[in-house]
Amino acid sequence: MSFPRTLGELRRSSFSEQRLLSRRVKDELRDNLVSRIRQGGPIFDGIVGYDDTVVPQIVNAILSRHNFILLGLRGQAKSRILRALTTLLDRETPYIAGCEIHDNPYAPICRPCRDRIRECGDATAIAYLTTDERYVEKLATPDVTIADLIGDIDPIKAARGGHELASEMTVHYGLLPRANRGIFAINELPDLAGKIQVGLFNIMQEGDVQIKGYPIRLPLDVALVFSANPEDYTARGKIITPLKDRIGSEIRTHYPATLEEGIAITAQEAWTERDGYTLHLPKYVQEVIERIAFTAREDKKIDKRSGVSQRLPISCTENVISNAERRAIQNGEQMVVPRISDIYAAMPAITGKLELEYEGEMKGADHVGRELIRAAIARTYDDYFNGVNMQQVVQWFDLGGEIQLADSAKAAAALESLSGIQGLMDKLGKVGVTTGDGPEKRVSAAEFVLEGLYAHKRIGRSEERVFRAGEKTPRHAEKQPMEREEPFRGRRPYN
Ligand SMILES: [Zn+2]
Repeated sequence: MSFPRTLGELRRSSFSEQRLLSRRVKDELRDNLVSRIRQGGPIFDGIVGYDDTVVPQIVNAILSRHNFILLGLRGQAKSRILRALTTLLDRETPYIAGCEIHDNPYAPICRPCRDRIRECGDATAIAYLTTDERYVEKLATPDVTIADLIGDIDPIKAARGGHELASEMTVHYGLLPRANRGIFAINELPDLAGKIQVGLFNIMQEGDVQIKGYPIRLPLDVALVFSANPEDYTARGKIITPLKDRIGSEIRTHYPATLEEGIAITAQEAWTERDGYTLHLPKYVQEVIERIAFTAREDKKIDKRSGVSQRLPISCTENVISNAERRAIQNGEQMVVPRISDIYAAMPAITGKLELEYEGEMKGADHVGRELIRAAIARTYDDYFNGVNMQQVVQWFDLGGEIQLADSAKAAAALESLSGIQGLMDKLGKVGVTTGDGPEKRVSAAEFVLEGLYAHKRIGRSEERVFRAGEKTPRHAEKQPMEREEPFRGRRPYN
């Protein structure tokens, strides 16, 4: 299909003056949203866990033709949602070819375009914007200037222009005018200086703005969307009141409400398709990883105001798979099956994502990370093995049994030693692993049992990953030199 290339052709096409003049960006978003709702199915692809909460509010904001703000902690898919708005834009949008601010062919706001139409009339060339070209995003920082956001003016040229106040010939456009006829997203809005907020407000309200004291008329057609941390946004004095007043809807995002939703998001976002190996990521490993984030979000050692991003379980999953992949490469195994020990090895993907409170800082990020993993294991173990009698396994260790399970251990060899623990391998049916499964899966499942028993302090484990009898009377028992494990805090309520 070929599109009209001149203004004259455009007039006679479906992009008629009547249609295009009245179709502002917010009308377009609204129209396309209405058809999507009529079609049924998801409004935004790949947005998990918001169907009953965030999505209906966004839909209402768009139907209301509002500028809106998403308030939420980090890693709550705010940017992802804002980017997904482009799927509600028309696939092609005609504009005056060469115009920096993508002028509407029937109502140009910039001076060069108006001059060109006067000169060329219906022969004026038309170009088209794709949806991606109509989305402009800016992370607000305190050093963003009016020039960055709205534009700059050459005062000498402006002065020479004399009485012409709206001397658009001399304006170097900033990001916002360049987003004309599209969506402009500002992330972390409260970080924008007050003066810039005023400029933004003036554009939203009047289409007029002053640059270096020269009034510039810019009646832009832009859907403005924002994101912010809720505490920053509501803090007094961070957002100028008139701007806040112009933001039609305030929508709160949240972390996944259930473990299953969290796992679904992590599975969607984490890079798991590695070449050359068959990956089997056990469900219990996924659950432990996800629970680390859930537990951390409740932990008083971790800063509530910044939250625990969904990127924690995502990066952790990637790192866990990599550690398992490394083991498979070293041992010449074809099957990559992550183990619980791979989660402990993924600490670099965890600690950087935790903003610690004072108490956490005192203990150190590594210590806090290990505690979180251990609590997550204990809880996940309970889901699978609640009521299963593990006395025989515990007894094997109490009678002096010891087994070392390094995270690099070859599956076949590890399976042989694990099989020597009476009563262990026949419990693995609880996680869906049977004698018919390969050694990689069986070792991972058996190790999960041992890590679960260790997390509950029923058996012990050294730094060198030697599982052995637990300390029966922890308060009075002699401290074994190998046993440098952290004291396990009283169990806190999870979730
Ligand atoms: Zn123009």
